[in-house]
Amino acid sequence: MSASQPSLKPYATTAANSRGREHAESFPRNADPFAIDRQRVLHSAAFRRLERKTQVFVTSEHDHFRTRLTHTLEVASIARRLCTALQVNGRVGELIALTHDLGHPPFGHAGEKALAQLMADHGGFEHNSQSLRVIEYLEHPYPPFRGLNASYEVRESLAKHCTLYDQPGRHPLADGTHAPIEGQIANLADRLAYDCHDLEDALGAELIDEDRLATVALWAEAATGPRHHYPDLPLAAIRRPILDNLEETMLDDIVAYSRRQIASGIKTLDEVRTCGRLLVDFSPAMESRVAELEAFLKEHVYRHPRLVRMDHKAKRLVHALFEAYLAEPKLLPPRFVDRIAESGAHRVICDYVGGMTDRFAQHEHKRLFEPFEPA
Ligand code: MG
Repeated sequence: MSASQPSLKPYATTAANSRGREHAESFPRNADPFAIDRQRVLHSAAFRRLERKTQVFVTSEHDHFRTRLTHTLEVASIARRLCTALQVNGRVGELIALTHDLGHPPFGHAGEKALAQLMADHGGFEHNSQSLRVIEYLEHPYPPFRGLNASYEVRESLAKHCTLYDQPGRHPLADGTHAPIEGQIANLADRLAYDCHDLEDALGAELIDEDRLATVALWAEAATGPRHHYPDLPLAAIRRPILDNLEETMLDDIVAYSRRQIASGIKTLDEVRTCGRLLVDFSPAMESRVAELEAFLKEHVYRHPRLVRMDHKAKRLVHALFEAYLAEPKLLPPRFVDRIAESGAHRVICDYVGGMTDRFAQHEHKRLFEPFEPA
């Protein structure tokens, strides 16, 4: 255990109370199972592809926008801080955060919407359950089994996250109980991370300005100190301290509220699962302030004409690729063609397109639709 991690609470996820792996493997004695999982996630091809997948802003337009990879690293860092504050296992929280977007398709939410539409009558598509599919099936680095053979608690956290919000009862691990605290933390860290960094990227892209933002209570409060100290500086010079304040306010609220939730009788990891409620959350008062910020982002950022235009292009491109493969499955790489008999053409094409980076998808679109492009 690192010096920065105070002693763990009995309900933390540890090697001792982990339900282990699906396939038996032998590891060096005393190896931390979650360190092994982390290593496998970092070595996965899906993890490396995150670098070239859009978060919200297309990264080919600007080097400073978040990518799916830097988003993931921010989520991992926030998850780790929350784990330390709540005295649960930071390695597990970080690991789940590193895994959470492995199944995200290219072109951010637009790519996901397009695949969900194309798969509506074929089992659906949703990026959280796809992340689970990546670590349970699509990654195949070891001959004896498919997937990464990750610890139960990682798989359960991804499965329960999709059940809660998207697809009731779809995965066998999604049994209506709740994820370990570390999984709940990673989930909320995702939301905290994108609320703050989408705001920063939108300011960088000049989609919104300070006057507009001043109408959002959380922002106004976070900006008071820095604006008081530096009344004449442009926003670009003080936006980081403002965002730091915003992040700390949200973090403090989560820690205080979740401590109270947990203190009401939770003693073991199994009680976390079966207590019937989320233990890690914003307080109701903070939840409504965060909702105000998110409504602002939706209206002024995600629905901004520049993003709408980009999303529209991305959806058309995903549809075109998908339909081309459906019309002629031999356009797929042979190892995907081989899986059609077992999984059906739609699922196989969805896995292939969903795994693509923005760059590869654009390149492939050219190769398929521009006859004189070199093969
Ligand atoms: Mg995410």
